[in-house]
Amino acid sequence: MFGLEISKVTKAFGAHLAVDDVSLSIPQGEFVCFLGPSGCGKTTLMRMIAGLESPGEGSIALNGRDITRQPANVRKFGMVFQSLALFPHLSVGENVAFSLRLQGQDARQRKARVDELLTLVRLPGMEKRAVSQLSGGQRQRVAIARALAQEPPVFLLDEPFSALDAKLREEMQIELRLLQKRLQITTILVTHDQREAMSMADSIAVMGDGKIQQYGSPLSIYRAPANTFVANFIGLSNLLPVEVLDHETVRFGANILKVAPMSQPATASLATLSIRPEDIQLTAANGAGDNTVSGRITFIRDMGSSVEVHLDCDGRDVLSVVQPRDWMGAGTGDIAHLRLPRNQCRVLAA
Ligand code: ATP
Repeated sequence: MFGLEISKVTKAFGAHLAVDDVSLSIPQGEFVCFLGPSGCGKTTLMRMIAGLESPGEGSIALNGRDITRQPANVRKFGMVFQSLALFPHLSVGENVAFSLRLQGQDARQRKARVDELLTLVRLPGMEKRAVSQLSGGQRQRVAIARALAQEPPVFLLDEPFSALDAKLREEMQIELRLLQKRLQITTILVTHDQREAMSMADSIAVMGDGKIQQYGSPLSIYRAPANTFVANFIGLSNLLPVEVLDHETVRFGANILKVAPMSQPATASLATLSIRPEDIQLTAANGAGDNTVSGRITFIRDMGSSVEVHLDCDGRDVLSVVQPRDWMGAGTGDIAHLRLPRNQCRVLAA
């Protein structure tokens, strides 16, 4: 297969399993994000792919060739890590050309490549600048140019934009994505920022507890989270305790609800129903039809572009996010009716 194949990779530190039996296929040219909370094993998995850490078990192959025991300097993957700073005493150009010099390229070759790379990261003509004279965003662009200098087969980035302010971070995300598409380079980015992962990746590997909890396109993960961990981690979700009656029917309090058909029959009669706040339709009138529950409004927050409404439904807090034009204009304490479209109601594994 062309691309990166990670098979049953495990890494323990003492008794702690940092990465637990992870398998993943990343096709050539794809942009994948490892997304998960602090300590879930993202960096350790990335370091094993880079060759900076060796797996306790399992294997890693690139384009069909086993590279599990190959050292990092032979893999030559491009890396931008938060801690991998630029050389402060070298100029921008010298930083970018660093690996080319080690490779033995002559001055003319190096200059041509540096010019090309600095144009690519939108810093043309900056090669003489001292690194200390650059802004945070410019430094990250130099780090990206330096990592791409040797045309690496795989590009690895670990929280590369976490030190930048929100606006610059978004600009850099767009720039990196456009650059990656242009170069068609297989790229893995580690982040705990779900917005970053959603906006950049072809595929997201959601990690929790050293395991891949779900792997798929951003939209498929958002629309159909595999379990409560993923539903909680990606976006906002209402998670309601339900009793399973059959593969498409549940009971929530006194309400019988139809849900998206479960692919596997629930093993327990108690389960969790997940529905996104923006999928709930709020109405003032009763008799709104099937799959409706009623609730008392406990809190309303008008954000301008949307209205967030919290309701008490059968003792549970349920959040509904409504577009201003659809907002019925009720007040705290009012009873409202929530229609839960059945295909948006998913019963999750715990
Ligand atoms: P963060 O987002 O905070 O960087 P992460 O998901 O990247 O977290 P890792 O850095 O991969 O997580 O760490 C996973 C687990 O392994 C953590 O519990 C961490 O403390 C542990 N760990 C990582 N490296 C080592 C090490 N060299 N020695 C011992 N334990 C380690």
